[in-house]
Amino acid sequence: MIEDIRKKMREIPGMDILLAQDWALPWIGELGRETVKRVLNGELTRIRRRMLAGEDADISADALKKNFEALLSREGLPRLRRVINATGVVIHTNLGRSLLAEEAVAAVIRTAGSYSNLEYDLTRGARGQRNAHVEELLCALTGAEACLVVNNNAGAVLLCLAALSRGTEVVVSRGELVEIGGTFRIPDIMELSGAELVEAGTTNRTHLKDYAAAISERTSMLLKVHPSNFRMDGFTAAPERSELAALAHERGLLFMEDAGSGLLVDGRALGLSGECDVRACIEAGADIVTFSGDKMLGGPQIGVIAGRRGAVNRLREHPILRTLRVDKMTLAAFEATMRLYAKGDLDRIPTLAMLRRTPDAMHAQARRLAAKLRRVTPARVEVVAVEDAVGGGSYPALPLSGWGVAVGAHPAGGAGRLQALLRGQEIPVVCGAREDALVLHVRTITPRDEALVVEAFARIGTERGEDA
Ligand SMILES: *Cc1c(COP(=O)(O)O)cnc(C)c1O
Repeated sequence: MIEDIRKKMREIPGMDILLAQDWALPWIGELGRETVKRVLNGELTRIRRRMLAGEDADISADALKKNFEALLSREGLPRLRRVINATGVVIHTNLGRSLLAEEAVAAVIRTAGSYSNLEYDLTRGARGQRNAHVEELLCALTGAEACLVVNNNAGAVLLCLAALSRGTEVVVSRGELVEIGGTFRIPDIMELSGAELVEAGTTNRTHLKDYAAAISERTSMLLKVHPSNFRMDGFTAAPERSELAALAHERGLLFMEDAGSGLLVDGRALGLSGECDVRACIEAGADIVTFSGDKMLGGPQIGVIAGRRGAVNRLREHPILRTLRVDKMTLAAFEATMRLYAKGDLDRIPTLAMLRRTPDAMHAQARRLAAKLRRVTPARVEVVAVEDAVGGGSYPALPLSGWGVAVGAHPAGGAGRLQALLRGQEIPVVCGAREDALVLHVRTITPRDEALVVEAFARIGTERGEDA
């Protein structure tokens, strides 16, 4: 028995022989010799292990070639890949949050492969500021006196606390000591910044007098934090922003708000209400407002700090700013996105356009997609009403009505199996499920994606044929 296995293992071709095969050469050209060797080696080890365990392994030249080529073609795919978001969650943090507008993508491409005036003042012919490219636009859009951009909003909060409140006390409502997505917790960020957290009020109700009572001679700031994907209902209370600002200024303190998502337009323009836009926060008297660029704003990942000139200027020379500085491609995308806001072209910004889609438009898309799918899949295909979501910690309690296509009774298997097959496509499709059907939410499926979804289902049909 052992002898048989040993004999069979000796029949496995060696690496040099494999690398000299006709089929191997193009792969060496595409992936490099060392990568091909690593992939083949890994597979050879698995085959040997299987043999030693007494399992069957087909090591005919044809079987090996087919096996190796499948692995090599997978190796050639980028690890960070484009996917199709059929979940209906517009700002899907796991899927890269906001899509860039075409104008922003063009700006990235323009900037990425060329030198630019990133930190060069073309008028003076001397060193310039990278922030200068977006500061004026941001001030115009938010009503702030000064603005600064950093890598992301978590960084913006850290920088502000470190530069403005290190070694002093910062008062925060107990109802706002939130965790946002696992690693961003207000108490932790506070500690990291060197500021001392002082809690005010209770979990559900914090009054102006609670803030006032929490202020000591060591206090430097009152901080308001957007609760993001956390929501409290019922017996709750929080003071108005303008009251907090007035209290802070009366006592010679700063009033800062971590606004989270960063709305640059009135929420009502998006059919949403209840969130404060950045301009309103500034008008209410905030000295500093921080927010993300890739949530409701619909731009690239960036953190914006908007506020009073005096406060923002204190951040400009801080060493943390250097560690959080924004890349040129991000700046290019952000400037292009700001310009769309300035023009009022909200529907050119994919995040906003997806939020503003009408039920009629989505229903028409769902019917069209269902008709195309029926042509390529033997499954049961139905147009269904769905609940979509804003995502990104915005409007957690606000379900968006949308339309989708449910695919059930597929010969390849149940919803879980179908979802796995869709995720396994070269351009993976990520979607929801209900009962035993998977659900494609059309709100987040772009026209360009639609054909790819149909192709994916056509392929899954044939994969089933091969399996059987
Ligand atoms: C999302 C969010 C953050 C973190 O922002 P990033 O841009 O992801 O770093 C911080 N604070 C609030 C309130 C948020 O909603």
